[in-house]
Amino acid sequence: MMERTSEGLVIWLTGLSGAGKTTLAVRLAEWLSARGLPVERLDGDILRGRFPDTGFTRRERDEHIRRVGFMASLLEKHGVAVVCSFISPYRQARREVREMCRRFIEIYIRASVEACEARDVKGLYARARAGQIANFTGLDDPYEPPENPELIVDTDRQDVDESLATITAYLERLL
Ligand code: ADP
Repeated sequence: MMERTSEGLVIWLTGLSGAGKTTLAVRLAEWLSARGLPVERLDGDILRGRFPDTGFTRRERDEHIRRVGFMASLLEKHGVAVVCSFISPYRQARREVREMCRRFIEIYIRASVEACEARDVKGLYARARAGQIANFTGLDDPYEPPENPELIVDTDRQDVDESLATITAYLERLL
C-alpha cells in the first residue's frame, strides 16, 4: 500500500457520450480509495441533475465546465483526488480548467461515434437521431479531441478492466 500523499490531483475524463467516462470514473475512484486517498467524483449527469437549468449551447457548456473545474480545483487544494467525468467537448474550456488546477491529468476516453451509438447505453443516440435531442455531441454538435492529453484510452478496443489498467498504470508512476 502506498503512502497517502497530501497532494491532491484532478483526473479529467473527456470523451463522447457512451465512451466510458462514468464507468471508468467509478472504477478509478474505487482504486484511488483503496490506495488510501481521499476521493471525490464529479460527474456530468449528476451535476446536471443538480443544476437542471444548464443547457447545451456552447456558452452554457463552457460555463458548466468552468464551474465544475473551479469546484475540482478547490477540492484538489485540500488534498483530494478528484475524478471528473464530463464530455467537455471544447478544448478552450478544458484548457481553462487545466490552468485552474495544480496537477491536472487529462484522459481522452476515446471511442468512435459509431461504437458509442452501437452501445447507446442511455438511448440518447436513438433519441437524437429521432430529432428529440438537439446539439448532441458527435452528431450535430462538435467534439474537439484533446491535442496533448496525458493519456488516451481506446475503449472501443478494450474491455473495462483493460482500460482501467491503462489508467492505473499511468497513475502508479505518478502517485
Ligand atoms: P459515458 O459516461 O462516457 O457517457 P458510460 O460509462 O455511461 O459512458 O457508458 C459506457 C458503456 O460502455 C458502459 O456500458 C460500459 O460497460 C461500456 N464499455 C465497454 N468497453 C468499455 C471500456 N473499455 N471502458 C469503459 N466502458 C466500456
